[in-house]
Amino acid sequence: TVRVRFAPSPTGMFHVGGARTALQDWIYAKQHGGVFVLRVEDTDAARNRPEWTEGILSALDWLGIERGSYEGPYFQSANADEQRAAAGRLYDAGRAYYCDCTREMVQARTGNSYTGYDGFCRDRNLGPGEGRALRFRTPDEGETKVIDLVRGEPTFENAKIEDFVIARADGSPVFLLANVVDDITMGITHVIRAEEHLPNTPKQQLLWDALGVKPPVWAHVPVVVNEKRQKLSKRRDKVALEAYRDEGYLRDAMRNYLMLLGWAPANDREIVPWSVIEDEFRLENVNPSPAFFDEKKLRAFNGEYIRALSVDGFIEACQPWLTGTATIAPPPWRPEQFDPALFAAVAPFAQTRVAVLSEIVPNVDFLFLDEPAFDEAAWAKAMKDGAADLLDDAARAYEAQTDWSAEALKNTLEEVGAARGLKLGKAQAPVRVAVTGRSVGLPLFESLAVLGRERTLARIRAARA
Ligand code: GLU
Repeated sequence: TVRVRFAPSPTGMFHVGGARTALQDWIYAKQHGGVFVLRVEDTDAARNRPEWTEGILSALDWLGIERGSYEGPYFQSANADEQRAAAGRLYDAGRAYYCDCTREMVQARTGNSYTGYDGFCRDRNLGPGEGRALRFRTPDEGETKVIDLVRGEPTFENAKIEDFVIARADGSPVFLLANVVDDITMGITHVIRAEEHLPNTPKQQLLWDALGVKPPVWAHVPVVVNEKRQKLSKRRDKVALEAYRDEGYLRDAMRNYLMLLGWAPANDREIVPWSVIEDEFRLENVNPSPAFFDEKKLRAFNGEYIRALSVDGFIEACQPWLTGTATIAPPPWRPEQFDPALFAAVAPFAQTRVAVLSEIVPNVDFLFLDEPAFDEAAWAKAMKDGAADLLDDAARAYEAQTDWSAEALKNTLEEVGAARGLKLGKAQAPVRVAVTGRSVGLPLFESLAVLGRERTLARIRAARA
């Protein structure tokens, strides 16, 4: 059976590129009736933290790769004995040798032409000892051809592959070996991972061969880059899946977008149900060139997914931001100020306007706060050119108003504005700022209708006080 693994290192927030790879692993396993194995490569003691592991597990859950539905998580550190034993077997079989050269020593011998280890200790027959690393003896002739579902058959000249270190002087296996031994232990048949690891692949395939196990099929999926074609980096770019989740990207929008990094469904479709992606995705059709992570496009996708929700679904999806449970910035109102009925009344208008769910908060805060949160710049701008007079007129007209429907409120303000030679758009601006605190937001008259007569009038008067 097909056994696919996803092998993240818990050294930071879970990267969107990793999320993309995990989804591809997941789909590949599913399409082939195979098994998805999660292995946490937790051997970099200096950089690993348990919360990063927890972050990976919960991010995978969010993506739909749920705990309990896959094999694992295994931990690389738990397989240390087997990794050391494999290093020992390679040494015993003469496939690896001890070496006490420092980098400086190698450089002194090879000068500027340094392109890797020069093989100095190959035939010195050193045994294990202080300061001695174990190196794998790579073949001097022939080629190593790997089968890569994305890239065909990348072929590497063995003479150019240096004798690389497999275990440090303290006996601990390095990544190249630990990763292979774990894959062998876990019976992995397909290694789907990021392009960054392609240079490791010939070395690792040589290790599979030397350990007497048929190598896996590989697939190196494209590096993910920003708009400047630079590899996404956590210092420069927003790379953490959690950050998108917390901002209010929907799971379905996110995973649809992630799958378009280097691949697309047939017939120029982009927004498609997950089931279509699970059917149609083919590693063989993934474009090997760098994939542009376009945050603007992701945002637009998310807006479309939000608009496709039912109103009830939208209300439900907004809860974490409204209650402050999921968000980085809690809402500015106190929990008891929140009124679900008022929110439900404006939800259909809000749904067409937000691209990410966290944007719901500034759009509706005027409904729940005692006083609107004034945006000073918007206030200064709206209060120019006769706005004060207009607000006085509007207050008078609305006081006399009995029909508090959006339609009637609109007609009234239209008349008030017309009397001062103002189009509706101009007449609305000061009313909007007085009532909501902002210059942009939900449709104004619907907002006033929901806010109610008393509060609307009080705010217009307060703006004039
Ligand atoms: N732990 C490695 C990484 O996160 C995974 C390497 C692999 O998938 O083989 O880059």
